[in-house]
Amino acid sequence: MFGRAPKKSDNTKYYEILGVSKNASPEDLKKAYRKAAIKNHPDKGGDPEKFKELAQAYEVLSDPEKREIYDQYGEDALKEGMGGGGGGHDPFDIFQSFFGGSPFGGGSSRGRRQRKGDDVVHSLKVSLEDLYLGTSKKLSLSRNVLCSRCNGKGSKSGASMKCAGCQGTGMKVSIRHLGPSMIQQMQHACNECKGTGETISDKDRCPQCKGDKVVQEKKVLEVFVEKGMQNGQKITFPGEADEAPDTITGDIVFVLQQKEHPKFKRKGEDLFVEHTLSLTEALCGFQFTLTHLDGRQLLIKTNPGEVVKPNSYKAINDEGMPVYQRPFMKGKLYIHFTVEFPDSLSPAQVEALETVLPPRPSAQLTEMELDECEETTLHDVDIEEEKRRKQQQAQQEAYDEDDEMPGGAQRVQCAQQ
Ligand SMILES: [Zn+2]
Ligand SMILES: [Zn+2]
Repeated sequence: MFGRAPKKSDNTKYYEILGVSKNASPEDLKKAYRKAAIKNHPDKGGDPEKFKELAQAYEVLSDPEKREIYDQYGEDALKEGMGGGGGGHDPFDIFQSFFGGSPFGGGSSRGRRQRKGDDVVHSLKVSLEDLYLGTSKKLSLSRNVLCSRCNGKGSKSGASMKCAGCQGTGMKVSIRHLGPSMIQQMQHACNECKGTGETISDKDRCPQCKGDKVVQEKKVLEVFVEKGMQNGQKITFPGEADEAPDTITGDIVFVLQQKEHPKFKRKGEDLFVEHTLSLTEALCGFQFTLTHLDGRQLLIKTNPGEVVKPNSYKAINDEGMPVYQRPFMKGKLYIHFTVEFPDSLSPAQVEALETVLPPRPSAQLTEMELDECEETTLHDVDIEEEKRRKQQQAQQEAYDEDDEMPGGAQRVQCAQQ
């Protein structure tokens, strides 16, 4: 069968370790392992070496293929790689998979299911200049990492015990009597194990993490804010959040938060600035400089003879925000113009203006026509304020009418019958 017959080595040791005969059934093996593993578990003060031997013996003998090789050629044959190798697996894993959790009680709180750890979200304040130019920011964060000394087990032996206070569930139930026949059950995290469901004996505690399984670590992350990124955009560092045992580490997520800019407002790829002109500038032309987000001085001026109307916009192409991931493309820069009119003019100014401005549209009224008119007075108003007040009034009236509805509806019904 084999080109070179393997030397026959010890093929009884595993049976002796488990205390069963060579023709033990799979059931016998299971029973023997269960009894011996619990008795020798380091959590219960057993010898870790013996515990490891038991796991190794059971791993081989519980696998029909490996058991056959072992029976024929002994332990060495398995070590040489026949049948996929013998032993070498974590004895605690074998123990766990055998019991599907902790055998020291009812629950199975120590299953090896991997849960996803929480993401850690930070907001990162940036200026509009940062988003225009791009920047990088170094941030120092402290996070939990699995203890390197105990590999996140919390104990020297790698073992832990089910918490006696909560039977490993991590929760405690307290009962409150609310009355003669009423009770309230309340669940809260176990105070003895801080909700983890397990405890580690003092002498077995890992000296580095004191049984916490994790230690704090300072870490510097460099966040690259790229040109054109938006307010609220997320920058993710996968798997950099707090580590915890049996947990897929979550991400660290930075959410950009743009600080208000005193001059520029951003809408998508466009920038907006406000500029106030005097009436003379609006009518006769102007020029001014605008310092851009990168410090460049833009000269902004009208064409000869051009009039800028109040509440109008003008745009400069390619002076808006860079487009994210296409930074050579840029949006527009819009300028919103407000025109400041003088509050009053002297008769001399009026006369001078009349000579240069276009003539009035309507002809002068005759004495006769004036006689037939009524005099009026123009008052200054804050129209926005008045609109707001009128709206409030209308809402109040609608509300009052609602109150009367039942009676009103009734009347309509009666009238229909
Ligand atoms: Zn507990
Ligand atoms: Zn440790």
